[in-house]
Amino acid sequence: MNPEGPLSLKKIHVTGVVQGVGFRPFVHQLAHSHGLGGWVCNTSSGVDIEVEGPSQALVQFLADLKAEAPPLARIESLTASDHSPNGYQQFEIRRSVAQEGKYQLISPDIATCKDCLAELLDPQDRRYRYPFTNCTNCGPRFTIIQDIPYDRPQTTMRDFVMCPDCQAEYDNPLDRRFHAQPNACPVCGPQLTLTDGAKMAVEDEISAAVQLLSEGKILAIKGLGGFHLACDATNEEAVRRLRQRKRRPAKPMAVMMATMEEIKSHCLVSREEQELLSSPQCPVALLPWKDDSTVSRLVAPGNRYLGAMLPYTPLHHVLLREMGTPLVMTSGNISEEPIATKNDEALARLRDIADCFLLHNRRIYARYDDSVWMFVEGKAQPLRRSRGYAPFPVRLPFKAQRILACGTELKNTFCITRDEYAFLSQHIGDMENLETLEHFETTIELYRRLFRLEPEIIAHDMHPDYLATRYALSLGPPRRLVSVQHHHAHIVSCMVDNGVDAEVIGVALDGTGYGTDGHIWGGEFLVADYQSFRRVGHFDYVPLPGGEAAIHKPYRMAIGHVYSLLGEEGLSAALPFLGEMDELELDVIKQQIEKGINTPLTSSCGRFFDAVSALLGFHGPATYEAQAAIQLEMIAAGDDEGASYPFSLVERDGIKVVQLSEIWRGLLDDLRAQLSPAAIALKFHNTIAQITVDMCRLIAADTGLDRVALSGGCFQNRLLLTKSFDVLHQAGFEVLTHNQVPCNDGGVSLGQAIIANSTTQTVD
Ligand code: ZN
Ligand code: ZN
Ligand code: FE
Repeated sequence: MNPEGPLSLKKIHVTGVVQGVGFRPFVHQLAHSHGLGGWVCNTSSGVDIEVEGPSQALVQFLADLKAEAPPLARIESLTASDHSPNGYQQFEIRRSVAQEGKYQLISPDIATCKDCLAELLDPQDRRYRYPFTNCTNCGPRFTIIQDIPYDRPQTTMRDFVMCPDCQAEYDNPLDRRFHAQPNACPVCGPQLTLTDGAKMAVEDEISAAVQLLSEGKILAIKGLGGFHLACDATNEEAVRRLRQRKRRPAKPMAVMMATMEEIKSHCLVSREEQELLSSPQCPVALLPWKDDSTVSRLVAPGNRYLGAMLPYTPLHHVLLREMGTPLVMTSGNISEEPIATKNDEALARLRDIADCFLLHNRRIYARYDDSVWMFVEGKAQPLRRSRGYAPFPVRLPFKAQRILACGTELKNTFCITRDEYAFLSQHIGDMENLETLEHFETTIELYRRLFRLEPEIIAHDMHPDYLATRYALSLGPPRRLVSVQHHHAHIVSCMVDNGVDAEVIGVALDGTGYGTDGHIWGGEFLVADYQSFRRVGHFDYVPLPGGEAAIHKPYRMAIGHVYSLLGEEGLSAALPFLGEMDELELDVIKQQIEKGINTPLTSSCGRFFDAVSALLGFHGPATYEAQAAIQLEMIAAGDDEGASYPFSLVERDGIKVVQLSEIWRGLLDDLRAQLSPAAIALKFHNTIAQITVDMCRLIAADTGLDRVALSGGCFQNRLLLTKSFDVLHQAGFEVLTHNQVPCNDGGVSLGQAIIANSTTQTVD
């Protein structure tokens, strides 16, 4: 179609996140601007392009295709081949083609973009205050997609027929909503309803919801990937009521605030934190909480950090702006069940919690919790990788086999690998009830369908009773099963997170993980690579009196430590600091320890933190995971001269064992000398960091290794992470910490998958 020069034709194939992000319209416009003919279309494996014109123009087209791709597109590969011209007279967007067995990357859901926000707030715009506005640069993706290719009929938006105005935008290559699959407007798109069981006749659902929230009511609000329970975060009574009804006395809850300015008035926010908070992923960030913040302290009792986020859907934007105060936005569930996603499900399950329900009629296909990040010394790491991130894969530096790794019991995620991708699922939750198991199973099915994956190898934790392990075993032969030790998986997840594939010293400080000797591990020093590990050191075993009961009641853990290590004398020194104690229970605990009845042994570092916390004032039962340990981090304060407790390392069967008795003696002496809990807590953190570096020095002397990977749930503790990092760094070690996946059990499935891949590989 261009008279200058001979024509040629290029066939181009692009993979990556190239669907649902405005890629085809971009290609269409680019071809037009270069005066080229041909077509573009979505396939099950990416985007195919045929483009025809003078050679010089084609070269420029290819260069621009990479350089100017839309903001949300992520090109993973681009191949082009030359062919003889076809005589295309124009450039068009063709219908999508489904291909057997092919797959492509799927965009996570993306927070409302600037252009959509401007329209939302413009009284002249036809989408003024419309809570479901979106465009090719933002809006729901993963939560509405049922299959690929990504087209409206394959999403839950198929329930809505576009009005002529929306259709015109959708068809116009120059429009921001050209081929935006979730395109909608007040005339044709999803709508809100407000109900307290019976539908409430209100003129404006958002205004009415704001009114209710201002009166201190609790609302269940349907969002992007599930329901939130919301209340005015500055209303102490409302927050208390929400906690009572949700049966969640103390676990920190997240807060949504209208603008960055508002976040800054409640929290200290660094430039890096601002960038993350206002990114297209829009996660929750744990920020230092200002003393003069008006957000009720009940939102995160005893915590120095507040989990804050910005609005990420149009509904949230309008709600927060009209509300004028921050809203608690906590997951819509009772205690540890998965978040509700369906209207009728929410009405039934959240009936006793919410006063009213703000519903909408766009179906949520995939459950999607808010992602949570923390910053340690300016570096971000995820604590929960979910909305905005999954199902975007972790890129592997090698091609992996087709593996499904089923993850662990708490904070479960699963991971499937294919080619050079590890698709780590969104946060599934604690696999302690049937609802969560069902969520796990249906989400695995979704990933298998979306990524066309038939796993050949199944990886699972060594713990025989985990629901995730049982699920894995049920998939059994002819698929290969690979059992993976929990802390090996933690360390490998940290290695993969950093792109490292060479033996490291692995320090896994953790709560609970099944050990190869049948004991409960959790204070582990490994020499590990992708294939295998050696346990070269660990914290000494102590009894876990009553098993699970000791996890829920940290004072049991404290008694387990002091009684087994220091006997009657230690116990009588400790008892005055453990709060009121039931004589009968104390007797039972002692019996359990003496006779080993229902009392497994553990080397857990997390339980060590629990025990010390119990001695320093945490007397009640823990109502959420790691509560006592978190309190120990939060109370640590004062002048830090690096003081620590003495400890000794002994060699037992060739393994270095950390003896804990001197630490306990030192602690009890300090308590009797009335040193403040804040100072003792600080000293304890220093001690663990000192143990870490001393162990690593010894292991380095034996092995010559100088790289240390830090993983395991204890490293969610900023103080411990910072101190450990610093002393290791000063000692000359290269220190790996997490950046893309959580150090807690949410990252374990990634390690499981990579270990299974390495141990089953036939050498070529
Ligand atoms: Zn937009
Ligand atoms: Zn419309
Ligand atoms: Fe763990």
